[in-house]
Amino acid sequence: MALFKLFGSDEEDRTAKILFGSAEESREALIERKNPYTGKVVSRYPVCSPEDAKRALEVAKVAAKAAAKAPLHQRIAWLEDVAAKIRENQEDFARLIVDEIAKPIHFARIEVQRCAETIELTAKELVHFVGETIPTDVAPSGREATAYWRRIPAGVAVCITPFNFPLNLIAHKIAPALGAGNAVVLKPTPEAPLTAYKLAKLFIESEHAVPDALSLVYGDAEVGSALVKSPIPRVISFTGSVPVGKIISSEAGIKKVSLELGGNAATYIDKEANLADAAAKCAFGSFYNSGQVCISLQRIYVHEAVYEEFAELMAKETKLLKVGSPYEEETFMGPLIDEDARHRAKSWVASARDEGATILVGGEEVDGIFPPTVVTDVTDEMKIVCEEVFAPVVSLVSVPDMETALEKINSSPYGLQYSIFTDSIRAAKAFIDAAEAGGVVVNDIPTVRFDVQPYGGVKLSGVGREGPRFALEEFTEIQSVVIF
Ligand code: NAD
Repeated sequence: MALFKLFGSDEEDRTAKILFGSAEESREALIERKNPYTGKVVSRYPVCSPEDAKRALEVAKVAAKAAAKAPLHQRIAWLEDVAAKIRENQEDFARLIVDEIAKPIHFARIEVQRCAETIELTAKELVHFVGETIPTDVAPSGREATAYWRRIPAGVAVCITPFNFPLNLIAHKIAPALGAGNAVVLKPTPEAPLTAYKLAKLFIESEHAVPDALSLVYGDAEVGSALVKSPIPRVISFTGSVPVGKIISSEAGIKKVSLELGGNAATYIDKEANLADAAAKCAFGSFYNSGQVCISLQRIYVHEAVYEEFAELMAKETKLLKVGSPYEEETFMGPLIDEDARHRAKSWVASARDEGATILVGGEEVDGIFPPTVVTDVTDEMKIVCEEVFAPVVSLVSVPDMETALEKINSSPYGLQYSIFTDSIRAAKAFIDAAEAGGVVVNDIPTVRFDVQPYGGVKLSGVGREGPRFALEEFTEIQSVVIF
């Protein structure tokens, strides 16, 4: 059965509600969400206050006791049930993602599939998510006892998510949090409230649900801050930008805080690389989701011996990408999320041009869409090179060797994922050892992420790791037990 009617034919069905556990509420004041491509209203959500955040946390505090006691088989069945329902409603979810954030339909479908997989992988991990026994008599000062450590739910978790993967990045948090036996308050991006609501409803209405274990509130800094500052949550799990990550870090106090933040992903094209393959992959990695990916490829360092050839191939591959309506099946890239993002892309590219950069492809907005843009003759100080652009803009830089590329790559304050294209195993190993990043990819773009992987950054890119097995660790505490 369809989850909701498409394209706003039923106004009520397109209005997200606040969820205090299973109790739904709305508010007189509603905020309209408009599709970034058509400008049409696609959903609405109620204006929440810090009091709503506090109330949701109180509901979670009570529910956390039952959540911690819910048997593992129930929690696994819960996750499996939600994943199955996501698959049943795949097309509706995909169209809702297109509506709210203008992700092209082809990629919206992939996100929905990945979301179901993330939840299923979490259910699988839970089977093996156990502690171990400890030999207490190993040191002469010890003595014999029955000792072990185990993982216990942290209690209440606050999950705050960004706009660019509005479904799967919620799943990466709430599936392990609930699966591990916590209660959760979710505050999703204001850009995709209905996507979050429909997913939350699947969790709440499942026959295996722990009652009231999931609550959902809307808003931005004010509501987010009320959640983060409260003494109730034991875990704050945040994915978003560095500036907001810094605020959360300073406001959270003594709690577990996991921060999945921004990046400035880069790759090195060695002279011993398959250039045609690298160029096709780099065009994808630079412009996929309009560059609005934390591991979007933003800097390409190319060995000088193959620079000209690679630049030509990259320009060719970029020009092949179909830009336009996110509702069309063939569209590779649609618009940026909003006017601010478009303005940032335009002005950063314009100032690079003023400072001497050359626009190899793109650069000029067409029908409200900032196009895939390849820039050359850049300097390390240009914003499009040294700051997270979060738009379809990539820079090509010629370098004499891998050491120079690594020096430039590692000079970034971020450290999420980097990659190298090379046929030389020696070069690949040296690159892996030197890269200051949470993840390294060989012979593909740094934009590769398998949901099963440990995923996260070093330096400004964050603290902690996601991926079902690793997120389960973030949402639990270790309890050490000794029995005499
Ligand atoms: P954002 O930081 O603007 O917003 C993220 C979330 O934080 C939203 O839900 C927002 O409402 C909330 N928020 C804003 N102010 C807050 C405050 N003071 N306290 C608590 N919450 C607050 O990010 P965005 O624009 O939605 O997403 C883009 C950013 O996210 C980029 O920097 C991107 O690199 C990063 N990102 C990182 C990862 C990762 O896994 N490392 C994944 C996706 C996106």
